[in-house]
Amino acid sequence: MKIICVFNQKGGVGKTTTNINLCSYLANKGKKILTIDIDPQGNTTSGLGIDKRNVESSIYDVLAGEKSIKEVIKKIELVDNFYIVPSTMELAGAEVELINKDNRENILKNALQELDEKFDYIFIDCPPSLGFLTINALCAADSVLIPIQCEFYALEGVGQLINTVQLVKKSLNKSLEIEGILMSMYDSRTKLSNEVVEEVKKYFKDKVYNTTIPRNIRLAEAPSFGLPILLFDDKCRGAEAYQKLTKEFLKRQKSKA
Ligand code: ADP
Ligand code: MG
Repeated sequence: MKIICVFNQKGGVGKTTTNINLCSYLANKGKKILTIDIDPQGNTTSGLGIDKRNVESSIYDVLAGEKSIKEVIKKIELVDNFYIVPSTMELAGAEVELINKDNRENILKNALQELDEKFDYIFIDCPPSLGFLTINALCAADSVLIPIQCEFYALEGVGQLINTVQLVKKSLNKSLEIEGILMSMYDSRTKLSNEVVEEVKKYFKDKVYNTTIPRNIRLAEAPSFGLPILLFDDKCRGAEAYQKLTKEFLKRQKSKA
């Protein structure tokens, strides 16, 4: 079982879109997948067709020590092999509420040790910040998958991103690795997109996936129907890209094993 955190402290770079679609294609290929939505915005939760207002138990209850992880896992009815721990707005207050808890950065990690069900992969969708929730995700994870948007300012955030990963690795989670870097919202017509990819490759070398995710309107439309692209429009360019990424992801897992 491998725990992967989809992380970038910037918002709007494609974390949630990647989380939803990589998870659903992996599940569709027969992998047993759990996704944990640890972002108070709950976009993974709603993007998979779950009404946030009706969520009875969420990752918040686990962090608050009120429920075990087993009690908050929900089956996603739309896709076989796919489970979720949903988010709620309450999560936004967790950082302040849990400020005096002992060992507070390891609450999620410790909670996951109580799982008795086996999953092939657990993906944690992070909020766009470096607070308590993200640190819990980074401490619980074996690796981070980092989406980077193909835009001019992308590189500015990368230095900080590396610092954070290094810092967590040094002080909190020694075994944290970089799973892969995914270039998102790629526009092949612009020179800029290509330049950003080249720059990021200089930095991260073969950690960068060969698959890039194009800017594709269908990917942006699917969440408002509560559907992964697999069920919304499996033939669009965005869907094809996420299918390709899924293959590349699995191939890399094999070569690591
Ligand atoms: P994050 O989780 O990093 O904040 P999201 O995945 O929510 O980013 O993406 C931000 C916005 O951009 C969302 O409205 C999403 O639907 C849209 N989006 C994400 N990836 C793409 C893409 N490849 N093409 C077009 N729109 C995208
Ligand atoms: Mg998000």
